[in-house]
Amino acid sequence: MICHTCASEQPEAIVQGGSYLLRCGACGEHMVATSFIAVSNTDGEFSAYCDPGYGRPPAPEARIARGPLRDISATVLAETDRGTIVLLIAETQ
Ligand SMILES: [Zn+2]
Repeated sequence: MICHTCASEQPEAIVQGGSYLLRCGACGEHMVATSFIAVSNTDGEFSAYCDPGYGRPPAPEARIARGPLRDISATVLAETDRGTIVLLIAETQ
């Protein structure tokens, strides 16, 4: 996944208003958008954070939820319903 604007390969996964977006971690350009529901039914382990903005590591205290995406998706969607942008980071096993 390469950014068309700056050619960086550092996509960040965010959820905004019920949509799942890949955002360039270098310039903030949105790269891909799909429905969060379409991607949320997986067992992949993620931590969800209040979005600190592109290219910035989230603070530990900004974490909203952690676990398999199918288990935390309701919590993530509840946050985005309130206008929060949520950053998803895959947990390395
Ligand atoms: Zn970029």
